[in-house]
Amino acid sequence: MSSIAESLSRIQDRLAAAISKANRAQSDVELLAVSKTFPAEVVKEAVEAGQLLLGENKVQELLAKKPLLPGKVRWHLIGHLQSNKIRKILPEVEAVHSIDSLDLAKGVDRVSGELGLRPKVYLEVNLAAESTKHGFPPSALEASLEEILALPRLEVQGLMCIPPFCEDVEASRPYFVQLRQLRDRLASSFDVPLSGLSMGMSHDFEVAVEEGSTIVRVGSAIFGSRGRA
Ligand SMILES: *Cc1c(COP(=O)(O)O)cnc(C)c1O
Repeated sequence: MSSIAESLSRIQDRLAAAISKANRAQSDVELLAVSKTFPAEVVKEAVEAGQLLLGENKVQELLAKKPLLPGKVRWHLIGHLQSNKIRKILPEVEAVHSIDSLDLAKGVDRVSGELGLRPKVYLEVNLAAESTKHGFPPSALEASLEEILALPRLEVQGLMCIPPFCEDVEASRPYFVQLRQLRDRLASSFDVPLSGLSMGMSHDFEVAVEEGSTIVRVGSAIFGSRGRA
């Protein structure tokens, strides 16, 4: 087995154990392997080992890597999307995890209409009000949600967050709880499922699964360290 296949297999085992421990069904949580910064030859080892769901945070990098990997791979964009790149990226991805403003939601909806697409989207929430991160402040999301839900082309899956990084994985838990509670509140007041919760990364995905994540975004634990870029 290649070392990437081994790391992938270890992460799959840890994910399965976390799902069982949380008394959830294995099919409730998907593993999105985040391949950013890793070349296609390396990523291919994960695909050959059965990982068909890949995530990239940059439009250019996704567009460059996609043609080098098998067509059966499903791609998700997880990083900030500029409005001038919507048209290029939408036909290439199954989902966008990083809808971080009402304007972006409207832009993705409009272009999807023109291209005949129905992308799955997650609404990114900036829970800690970090100026370095994108995402709706919770109150802004609440104020915009009715308009977003009325956009005909978006398949709104639910919410996404990136908690402030901290070595201590338990520091992530309150953010995951907050995202779930925000989802519960919005789902009930707007009468929509919002069943998707995109949360959990290499260091804290097990905690995220305990708190209700439906898709974990794991990069370095599978592909190795990206260094201090
Ligand atoms: C890079 C990235 C990840 C994966 O991070 P790791 O710590 O390498 O698992 C997850 N989500 C987003 C939005 C990212 O940019």
